[in-house]
Amino acid sequence: MSTIELLGLSKRYGGVTVVAPTDLRIEQGELVTLLGPSGSGKSTILSMIAGLTTPSEGMVRIGGCDVTHVPPAQRNLGMVFQSYALFPHMTVFDNIAFALSIRSVAKAEIATRVDRALAQVRLGGLERRRPSELSGGQQQRVALARALVFEPEILLLDEPMGALDKNLREEVQLELRQLQRELGVTTVLVTHDQEEALSLSTRLVVLDQGRIQQIDTPIAAYQRPSNRFVAQFIGTAN
Ligand code: ADP
Ligand code: MG
Repeated sequence: MSTIELLGLSKRYGGVTVVAPTDLRIEQGELVTLLGPSGSGKSTILSMIAGLTTPSEGMVRIGGCDVTHVPPAQRNLGMVFQSYALFPHMTVFDNIAFALSIRSVAKAEIATRVDRALAQVRLGGLERRRPSELSGGQQQRVALARALVFEPEILLLDEPMGALDKNLREEVQLELRQLQRELGVTTVLVTHDQEEALSLSTRLVVLDQGRIQQIDTPIAAYQRPSNRFVAQFIGTAN
């Protein structure tokens, strides 16, 4: 079970509220996008789900269990952040295997899991390459494989396509869609790209200034924006 529930989850820095008390339930196998302008609190919410940021108030539940005080490594999550670079001196295989090897997983088991993760992002055959011998989209798919090698029930993605040009972005988007459909991994994607959010998500969570403005399917948010902010923000996708 990998539902994610946020109950009254908030974050303040000093006296400043960056995420107002937030309630959200994400069902198993959904691909939910946190969409909003820069500074609207998207990464802070994702980071609280991951356990990397401690909430000021409220609770995070995963699979019905309160994990608010559970460390990130015990939450069974895969994470891909734009800034998580690959190790340039390591092969694709070693980049993906690295986190398993420091957890002393047996060699044969590592090989099996790396192969499976590479197949999931359709990069089989490229394991001996170095990151510099891959396209940007392929590098991002290696980063995705590095998250999938833990066989997480939940994937948290913070602007994973942010640094890619349009074609490469589409390549990674296709991958995400397949992962969600075929593996049923519950995915939370942070983006400020309206088009990406509309095309990928089962539901959108539109944020402005740390507050949820609308939670809806892409089509409903597009056709019936709940306020002027949502209308303007989603409308700029055209
Ligand atoms: P987004 O991902 O939507 O761009 P963030 O969640 O990164 O937004 O940030 C939301 C707000 O919280 C911003 O105003 C940001 O400056 C502030 N913020 C984020 N992290 C910190 C921090 N560690 N200390 C103080 N303010 C922070
Ligand atoms: Mg951010």
